[in-house]
Amino acid sequence: MFAGLTTVTEQTPLPVRVRSRMLSLATVALVVTLVVTAIAGFVHVGGQQRAMADLRGEADQLRAMYQSVVDADADAMHFLTGEAGALRTYLPELERLTGASAAIFDVVGPIAAPSSAEPQRLRDLVAGLVRNWNEAIDLATSGNRQAGLDLLASRRTGETVTAIGTGVGRVLNDTDLRIRTHDNRIQAGTMLVLLMQLGAGLLAILGLLYAFRSSVTEADGRAAAVETADKARQQVARLFEMADVLQSASDHADANAVLKATAVELVPGFSGALYVFNNSRDRLVLSTTWARAENDALPETINPNACWALKRGKPHVNRGDSTKLCCAHHVGSETSLEIPMIARGEIVGLLQLFASGISAEERLEHATALGSALADGMSLALANMALREKLRNQALRDPLTGLYNRRYMEDCLQRFVRLADRENREISLIMVDLDHFKRLNDEHGHSFGDQVLRDTALTLTGSLRETDIVCRFGGEELVVILPDCPLERAADKAELLRLRIEELSNTHGTEISASFGVASVPHTSQSVTDLLQAADQALYKAKQGGRNQVAKAPLRPYRPDRMSDELAALEEFPRAAAE
Ligand code: GH3
Ligand code: MG
Ligand code: MG
Repeated sequence: MFAGLTTVTEQTPLPVRVRSRMLSLATVALVVTLVVTAIAGFVHVGGQQRAMADLRGEADQLRAMYQSVVDADADAMHFLTGEAGALRTYLPELERLTGASAAIFDVVGPIAAPSSAEPQRLRDLVAGLVRNWNEAIDLATSGNRQAGLDLLASRRTGETVTAIGTGVGRVLNDTDLRIRTHDNRIQAGTMLVLLMQLGAGLLAILGLLYAFRSSVTEADGRAAAVETADKARQQVARLFEMADVLQSASDHADANAVLKATAVELVPGFSGALYVFNNSRDRLVLSTTWARAENDALPETINPNACWALKRGKPHVNRGDSTKLCCAHHVGSETSLEIPMIARGEIVGLLQLFASGISAEERLEHATALGSALADGMSLALANMALREKLRNQALRDPLTGLYNRRYMEDCLQRFVRLADRENREISLIMVDLDHFKRLNDEHGHSFGDQVLRDTALTLTGSLRETDIVCRFGGEELVVILPDCPLERAADKAELLRLRIEELSNTHGTEISASFGVASVPHTSQSVTDLLQAADQALYKAKQGGRNQVAKAPLRPYRPDRMSDELAALEEFPRAAAE
């Protein structure tokens, strides 16, 4: 019954569990990346720094070596020019140049310029210098200083020292370049590690923000889902309550009151209306409205053929601006949601919800599920009431003519006669018997007779007030009860009925007529039995009189206790007859 009632469902791109697992993996990957880049950075920078320190050490040693060359050359020159003490400083310099320190060239060479022939040249030059100095000093120590000086001059030791200086300078330049390269690598590596750390830190912050936002969204989603579920539970409970109360509704007014109370609570902010099919099912009649302004009138009836919701058998929205498919009965600037009410496969009515404003259509679409649940509950109640009414009718009515049966007539008569007695009111009874009906059956067949009976019944009900009661007394005898109707007016009415029944002859192509006996309380009778007897006797009189006529029962003898009432009733007759 409440199948249309749905709760709002949350659409997530990924399931929460998968998302949080991915987030954890990303966090682990991020931490590993941070650690690995930090270690790689330290290793790289350390290696470069070590290489730089080695290069700087070698460069210092090369500079010291050159200094030794310059000092040894100066000491040799000083010794040759007579400064004997210079030999004291010359010898350690010489030792430095020829000893272990000379091996510097082997070290510096590959470091400074791996592909260069410069170190070998320098070593050869230094070795040549040492040989020349030693030869010159040997000459000097053997007493020929000048020969020593000449030897050095002829061998151009000064130029060799300068050449060594130039060569050392070149190697040092190379070394400087190499040191700068390492320095650049250190800076680039440091920058890279820094950038990666910064990036990772940024990613970590973003991840944290995302995780925080996700957890807030999840918490909000959970709270909203719980709220929606609670609301849906309450709505379902309210709808079940409505269905339960509707079981006890005895008529449409009761059911409408229940619907109004439930609708105002369940779909607040909307006004509404209920239309129900009339008996002939050719129109929907306005049954009730709620939350509508006094002057906001709705059409009293709706043509089912002009209603899109009924034609399509599903909810339909009529927009206020009538831009789209709009039912002919839709009036005003409101937007309306129309829900067909279907019970046991049959449309029983139409439920309308109205809203106005910009988001009216959207709000109405949101209310469709609840509106449909209301319509379902109400249509079931209406169908049950119709079924009850049908069963009651079956118990009270005659199946051939649809008129009330004799049992109902007797109950009714008892009630009216008691009322007439207690409140000094009048009630008349007309007994009708079709003339020569046996002959009609014999001549035209039983089903023709049935049709004449049905048409007679229709003629009678169509010629009387709604408060008058027409019953099938038995066979082709019918009884009309006219509450608050004096004898004379009843006789006039009987005459009218007689004429109308006589007119049936034209449509059926055979002679049709009826005889009428009229009696009333208190003028001719005072009890139900009296009344029926008096009417029957009057009918007999009409038959005796030649049929197709009206006969009145004789007035009762004078009763002083009723005198004033009867006078008053008599005074009423001319006025009532004029009506
Ligand atoms: P009268 O003018 O004296 O009333 O003559 P009548 O033939 O109408 O009266 P009678 O009582 O002799 O016959 C009544 C006939 O009505 C007999 C019966 O066959 C017929 N009748 C009673 N109930 C029905 C019915 O439900 N359908 C049909 N077709 N005929 C019925
Ligand atoms: Mg008859
Ligand atoms: Mg009869």
